[in-house]
Amino acid sequence: MQTNRRSTTSPADPRLIPLWTPEQISDRVASIAGKIDHDYASNPPVLVGALKGSFIFLADLVRQMKSPAEIEFIRLSSYNAGTESSGHVRVAWGPGVEEIKDRPVIVVEDIVDTGLTTSAALSHLRRKRPASLRVCTLLDRPERRRTKLTADYVGFTFSGHFVVGYGLDLDQRYRGLQGIYGLEHDRKN
Ligand code: 5GP
Repeated sequence: MQTNRRSTTSPADPRLIPLWTPEQISDRVASIAGKIDHDYASNPPVLVGALKGSFIFLADLVRQMKSPAEIEFIRLSSYNAGTESSGHVRVAWGPGVEEIKDRPVIVVEDIVDTGLTTSAALSHLRRKRPASLRVCTLLDRPERRRTKLTADYVGFTFSGHFVVGYGLDLDQRYRGLQGIYGLEHDRKN
């Protein structure tokens, strides 16, 4: 009998609470893609995906967009193992000056939570003199914000739940789920 490799990460996992279906996500991604196309009609942006969590969102977003956006990545880390924020954000690497100087840049995030990670990305990228710098995030949880950051393009605003799926993980699990799920857990902050 064939073993089901995804059995522990399937939506049948009793700890997973369905929040958004693949169809709902697809609709929001298409809507954001349309807005970006409209806003950047005369000057296509450089989309800078924040790894790792944004990789699926970015892939779907760029395929829904009509404008010829360029893709870069930035690697940050703000979370230790589990669901607790370390409070320290490290920029491991990102695009060079030549990739974004004088270009309109959009940072693409999976989720803006405290905002510390995205703020660190913005500070890092700003030093490379982009023509403009905006934030696009699939998920926004403003109740936990510890910075003044406001995202320019938002898929879903919500509160509560630690979420997984559609690129978002818990200790590297659940990224491959097609929907987004809340995960029962003990968050301490
Ligand atoms: P922030 O710096 O805004 O607190 O956190 C940003 C990063 O923390 C996200 O890019 C993501 O990697 C992680 N994160 C924050 N909240 C969640 C969540 O509910 N689920 C998952 N999987 N990651 C989260």
